Amino acid sequence: MVRETKFYDVLGVTPNATDAEIKKAYRKLALKYHPDKNPNAGDKFKEVSHAYEILSDDQKRQMYDQFGEAGMNEGAGGMGGINPEDLFSQFFGGGGGMFGGGGRRGPSGPRRGRDMAHALKVSLEDLYKGKTSKLQVTKSVICVTCDGKGGKDGAVQECRQCHGQGIEVVIRQMGPMVQQIQQQCRRCGGAGEEIDERNKCKKCNGRKITTERKQLEVHIEKGMREGQKITFPGEADQAPGVVPGDIVIVIDEKEHPRFKRRGDDLFYEAEVDLITALAGGNVRIQHLDERVLNVAILPGEVIKPGEVKAVQGEGMPSHRHHNMGNLYIKFSIRFPENNWTSEENIKKLEALLPPRQPLAAVPKGCTEEEVVLSMLDASQQSRMENGAEDMDMDDEEAHGHGGPGVQCAQQ
Ligand SMILES: [Zn+2]
Ligand SMILES: [Zn+2]
Repeated sequence: MVRETKFYDVLGVTPNATDAEIKKAYRKLALKYHPDKNPNAGDKFKEVSHAYEILSDDQKRQMYDQFGEAGMNEGAGGMGGINPEDLFSQFFGGGGGMFGGGGRRGPSGPRRGRDMAHALKVSLEDLYKGKTSKLQVTKSVICVTCDGKGGKDGAVQECRQCHGQGIEVVIRQMGPMVQQIQQQCRRCGGAGEEIDERNKCKKCNGRKITTERKQLEVHIEKGMREGQKITFPGEADQAPGVVPGDIVIVIDEKEHPRFKRRGDDLFYEAEVDLITALAGGNVRIQHLDERVLNVAILPGEVIKPGEVKAVQGEGMPSHRHHNMGNLYIKFSIRFPENNWTSEENIKKLEALLPPRQPLAAVPKGCTEEEVVLSMLDASQQSRMENGAEDMDMDDEEAHGHGGPGVQCAQQ
């Protein structure tokens, strides 16, 4: 006879309810009181979960019937207190919970195994053109020799110690108190079964699984991006009584020597001669496919250092859309070396190029002094490089031609 009926009452069943009746009652109430669906139900979901946790487990139910709730709590050891959400997702078939849209199997379905993620390095060329890649994965599969049984038919015996429960209950007497402690069965390591050494499957040595290398064909679609996932449902590790999880391939975009990618756009740095910058010319850019783009700079179009121009529609293909990003070209200018031409030619250049800007007037009270530029020596060079940012700022001020901030002594 049962000692108390609280947990049965919570689930709305009688103490002689069958496992199926308990399961059915939990299913109904868990769905009704789940916080996602019924945020005002308070602790009801926890209560229902706890009651089911006890009553769905033969051993725990037996202990509850015998000793009541107080006896259960004392005997909880390290095993009790399962998270109600975990129980719920175990029951309704893991991964994201029932209301998150992830529950993929009906009630009382088997446990779902873990997903396996693999990073796949992909070049920008392959992301541009699309590609089918072959990937070798190593995974556990159900042993084909014993069909996942670990040995010949009938070789697997219920563990004599725990009678298949995987846990054993140790009863300890502490003065007037009787304490039950549940712990993982030491004989079978929690598996609940054992195989006689002689009858173990030779192939898997009773482990029921073996390792296998498998080749996956990964279809990389045009325009896929860093971090994007390609899923192979049910291809992860197999184990007896478990629905295998998915293999998830995660795209890892390799750095490209010429292009940088931002979303669907590509960025390219091009260096042009001074003559091209001033008088037009062409730039060749090897694209990510077999095309070479010939970019025309028209005579009269002036390219300034650091200027960015766009080539419409020559970026990356947009994944699953039919449009293309843009190609942005940032220009730098290759200036001629010192003494690159004769004085005569320089005179001609002066006549051709826009005239020099007149110098800013020497402010009243200031005197003008002539100075000469020299090359930097090694230590100056390294100081320049280390303090490059500071120097840039000074540089800007130097262009100010005695603007605000420059003060001359009044005479
Ligand atoms: Zn085997
Ligand atoms: Zn055992």
